[in-house]
Amino acid sequence: MLFRKLIDSPWLYFGLAAVVLLAAVFSQFERVDVEVPRGEVSDIAELSERRDLNVLFILIDTLRADRVGAYGYERATTPNIDALAARGIRFEQVESQSSWTKASMASLWTGLLPAQTGVLRFSHALPEEVKLPSEIFQEAGFRTAGVWRNGWIASNFGFDRGFDVYTRPMPNNPSNNLRRNSPSSHRLEGTDLDATQAGVEFLTGSRDQPFFLYLHYMDVHQYLYSDTSPVYGSSFSDIYDSALHWVDQNVGALVAALKGEGLLDNTVIIIASDHGEAFFEHGDEGHGRTLYWEVQGVPLIVALPIAIDGGIVVEEPVANIDIWPTILDLVGLPGLTGAEGRSLLPLVLASGEGAGSEREELQGRTLFAQLDRAWGRDSQDADEILSLRKEPYRFIYSRKFPEESKLFDHSSDPVELDDLSGSAPEMVARFEREAEDLFERAQPEWEVREIELDEMMRAQLRALGYDVSPPDPFEEAKRRAAGKSTEAQEESGP
Ligand SMILES: [Zn+2]
Repeated sequence: MLFRKLIDSPWLYFGLAAVVLLAAVFSQFERVDVEVPRGEVSDIAELSERRDLNVLFILIDTLRADRVGAYGYERATTPNIDALAARGIRFEQVESQSSWTKASMASLWTGLLPAQTGVLRFSHALPEEVKLPSEIFQEAGFRTAGVWRNGWIASNFGFDRGFDVYTRPMPNNPSNNLRRNSPSSHRLEGTDLDATQAGVEFLTGSRDQPFFLYLHYMDVHQYLYSDTSPVYGSSFSDIYDSALHWVDQNVGALVAALKGEGLLDNTVIIIASDHGEAFFEHGDEGHGRTLYWEVQGVPLIVALPIAIDGGIVVEEPVANIDIWPTILDLVGLPGLTGAEGRSLLPLVLASGEGAGSEREELQGRTLFAQLDRAWGRDSQDADEILSLRKEPYRFIYSRKFPEESKLFDHSSDPVELDDLSGSAPEMVARFEREAEDLFERAQPEWEVREIELDEMMRAQLRALGYDVSPPDPFEEAKRRAAGKSTEAQEESGP
C-alpha cells in the first residue's frame, strides 16, 4: 500500500533515492561491486526452499548477445552486466522466439511458441487464458511491479496481468545530457533513467515482503546514450554500443540500490532481451524483418543471491521460452501450465558440475522462432517465416515462398552467409516437414484476441521506429460511423 501511495504522489516518487541514484549514474563509476555470500553449485537447488527471495527481471530491448562483454565482445560495453555474469549463470546460446517485441515477449512470458500464443501481428493481444509469471508471483504473495517504455507491451495488449503496478514511468529526465542518434528520426519521450528511478523507488524499503520487479529498458533500441558514455565511432553500430554502455550504467545503479537496501543476498537478478538488431549483416538494419542470428541471438544471465566462483556457463542452445520455467523452478514456485519451454535448472547444475546426462536430452531439441513479415500491415495476408535451429544448423522456412527457404551450417558458417539449401535437398525436406508439423501441432487453444489500434496508438508505435501502416481511411470512416470503441486509446494514454 505504501508503494501505491508513493506512486500516486509525484513528489515522494522522485524523492531522495532518485537523487542519490542520479548522482550514482552520472558519477561514472564503471562497475558496482557485487558482494553476496559465496556458494557451491549444490547450493543452487536449495534456493527453492527459501522464502525470502526477490526476483528482479531486467529486459534490455533489442540487445544482441555478441555486444555484451561477458559474451566475448572486445569493447567494454557492459561492465556491470559482466560482473553479474561472472558470479552467476550465463547461457551462451539463447534463441529469442521472434524478432519484434510483442511476439517475442508474448512467448517469453508464457513459455509458448508464437504459433501457440497466436500473437503474431500488430493488433494481436496476449491470450487471457494463459497464466503469466506475474500472476504466479502475485498469488504467492509477492509485491509485483512492471515498469516499461515500449508500447508493444502496454496494458491494452494484456501484459499487465498479475502486476500490482504496471506503469510507463513519467519522462522525468529531459535528455539534455543524453544524446540520441537513432536510425529512425522518431523519439520516445524520456530515458531509461526514468525506469531505473521508478524501479529503485519500488525496491526501496521493501525488505518485509518479497517482490517481483520487471524493468523493460529501451535506450539501446533508441540509440540513446549519455555524455559520459564512451564514444566508439559514428556508425549506428558504434552508437548502439554507446547506448548499451549507458543502459549498463543503469543496471549498475539498480545493483547499487539493491546493495544499499541490503537486498543483494536475497534477490535473483535476470538480464534478458526480446531480440537483437541487424547492422546490414543480411542487407538490413533494425529488427522485425528477418530471423537471422543477429536478430535472434540474445543474452541470458541469471545472478543468484549466492556467488558461484567463476560463474556457470551453459553452452547448450536454449530459448527465451525456457526463462520462466527455469526461474519459477529456481525460486520454488509453481511452473507455467502447458509451457513448451522447460526448466533449465537440471542443465545449469549439470553444467556447473561438468556432468553430461541432462545435456543430451536438450541437445535433440529444435528451437523455433517465428515472424509474420506482414505483421505491421493491416491489409496484407500473413507472410510467415519460421526459423528452426538445431545445432549446427539453422533452417529458415518461408511458408508462402518455400523456394526462398535457407539452410546454414554454423560449424563452418556462424554468421549465416552461405546458404546450403540448394546442395542439401534431403536435409531441407526434413526441416520443411518439421516446420509444417509445427504449424500443424502448435495452434492457439483460444481465439486470438485483437485490439483495435487507433491512429494515436499507431503514432506511438511509429515513434518507436516501427513501420506500422497508417489506417485505411475508408475503414476508419466506417469504424467511426459504426461508433466502435477506442479501447486502445483510452488505456494507453498519451
Ligand atoms: Zn523489442
